[in-house]
Amino acid sequence: MKPIIALSSYIANKDVFYGYGTSGDYIKAIDGAGGIPIQLPAIKNTQDFERIFRQVDGLLIPGGCDIAPYFFGEQPEQKLGYINAAVDRHELALIRLAYDAGIPILGICRGHQVINVAFGGTLYQDIPSALPDAIGHNQSPCGREELYHKIDILPSSRLCRMFGKDSIYVNSFHHQAVKQLGEGLRAVAVAPDGVIEAFEGTGDRFVLGVQFHPENMFGLYPEFSNLFREFIEECKKRAI
Ligand code: MN
Repeated sequence: MKPIIALSSYIANKDVFYGYGTSGDYIKAIDGAGGIPIQLPAIKNTQDFERIFRQVDGLLIPGGCDIAPYFFGEQPEQKLGYINAAVDRHELALIRLAYDAGIPILGICRGHQVINVAFGGTLYQDIPSALPDAIGHNQSPCGREELYHKIDILPSSRLCRMFGKDSIYVNSFHHQAVKQLGEGLRAVAVAPDGVIEAFEGTGDRFVLGVQFHPENMFGLYPEFSNLFREFIEECKKRAI
C-alpha cells in the first residue's frame, strides 16, 4: 500500500505569496517515489492534527524561512532573516507528534534545522557572521539544480547507503546551519568547512535531516531520488 506522507505548508512571507503552500518539487519527489503527499497547513492548534497522524505514515518538513532564535534560547543576531514563530511552533509540534507515533521524519534545509531544534539543538543564525572562514553555502542566483559544494558522508550511515558513496556534490541554499546537535541525533555528513550537512537519529526510528535540496536535483542527477525512495520504503513499513 502507498504510504501517506504529510508535508508542512505555510505562508513563507505574506508579501511574496498569500496562501498555504509547499514548493512543487517536494510534492513531485514524494509522488514520484511512490508516496501519497498531503499538506498540513500551519494552523493555530497543530495538536488538532493528532487524529490525522493515526493515518499518516511519514512526515516531511521542507525548506523555508529562518527559525526564531527564541526556540533555541538565543537572542536575534543582526543577520537573522525572515522569521515566523507560528510556523516554528507548528513544525516543532508536527515533529513531536510524528516522533511519538514512531512515524519516519525527513527534514530538508529549514526542515533539517527545525528537527535539530525539536531535539534540543541550536543553530548558527548566519554562517558568514559565525564562521567567517566557511565556504559558500548560498549559491543564489545559480540554478537550484547546480552542484555547488562537496560533502563527506559517514560510511556507516543510511545516507551513505542511499548514495552508494562517501562523498558527493550537493546544492546549497542556506545561511543558517546546525551549531549544537540535538540529543539523539548524529552528524552523518559535513561540508569541507565542518558545517553539518546531514544527521540521522541514533535510535531505531527513522529521522533524517539534509541541509541540501535533493528535490531540486533528481531530474538531472537520478541518485538523489534514492533518498526519497528509501524514505518511502521506510514509511511503507507502517502502511500495512
Ligand atoms: Mn551547504
